[in-house]
Amino acid sequence: MSPDPSPYAVFVAGLPKAELHVHHVGSAPPRTVAALAERHPGTVPSDLDELREFYRFRDFAHFIEVYLAVVDLLRDPEDIRLLTYEIAEELALQQRVRYAEVTLTPHTSVLAGIAVEAFVEAVEDARVAAERDHGIVLRWCFDIPGEFGLPAGEETLRYALDHGPETLVGFGLGGPEIGVGRTQFKDVFDRARAAGLHSVPHAGETTGPETVWDALRDLGAERIGHGTSSVQDPELLAYLVERRIPLEVCPTSNIATRAVARFEEHPIRTMYDAGAVVTVNSDDPPMFGTTLNREYEIAAELLDLDRRGIAGLAATAVRASFLPEVDQGRLLEEIDAYTRTAG
Ligand SMILES: [Zn+2]
Repeated sequence: MSPDPSPYAVFVAGLPKAELHVHHVGSAPPRTVAALAERHPGTVPSDLDELREFYRFRDFAHFIEVYLAVVDLLRDPEDIRLLTYEIAEELALQQRVRYAEVTLTPHTSVLAGIAVEAFVEAVEDARVAAERDHGIVLRWCFDIPGEFGLPAGEETLRYALDHGPETLVGFGLGGPEIGVGRTQFKDVFDRARAAGLHSVPHAGETTGPETVWDALRDLGAERIGHGTSSVQDPELLAYLVERRIPLEVCPTSNIATRAVARFEEHPIRTMYDAGAVVTVNSDDPPMFGTTLNREYEIAAELLDLDRRGIAGLAATAVRASFLPEVDQGRLLEEIDAYTRTAG
């Protein structure tokens, strides 16, 4: 990647966007993590410079370790409420995100001693406050932390069915993929889908295309989290194109976790040129030293896009979202209006 600032930085910063793949804890702004670390002293530094060093990942396993250390800072509902509100504020004010489907992992908070009812109440309080203060609309996806296996799947399903708010739209599966087969969660996903939740598992991020096939066949995936290795199987890529199954692409995340060696080798170009539904997202932005704006700039460079093309990426994310059609139309109109006046 060129180290120069993108010629489209100003355009991207003002572009109204939808964010479809962003993790709750993973998007904790450093100042929030520092404040929480001060409240709960332990392994996570409360100094901002030390925090940056702490976030330098050796590999995917190390990333999970660091992630769980931050999870450990969320000890009570007030921590959850603060974190959620500050994430929403950052998305609204700094990234011009108008709508986000945020991935929550209630299982890890319950393990930390927060009752699921209190967890849901805290995120909902923050959602309402952020929408009131900044006009950003948030919806939730509950995801299974795969490293905890099938019991975490059953628990997450129970949280969704018994305690999920009306704003819960998706059901996902995250964590490491190696050694965590997708297929074992088939029954859990069947029941989540029967309850009206959309299936949005991670697949093909650190494993091959067969995992993406598993997610499609066994989990009824309606969008694929990452799907990076899909390009290794032409039949799979053709299937994703034909069925219009969106890929939630997060370029910097893939570099940070070493899923892809270099930006120049990122498969986003192959996906895009094949006609796949490519959305650009930020995953765990402060942990990966990025922002959604930066991800759009990187995608613009990798895909050789001009302003219209960049606006097209934003529109694709809106269409790939689970927003009702009338709300999609309103947001698409906002993107159009911005592009006309900014262009
Ligand atoms: Zn993710």
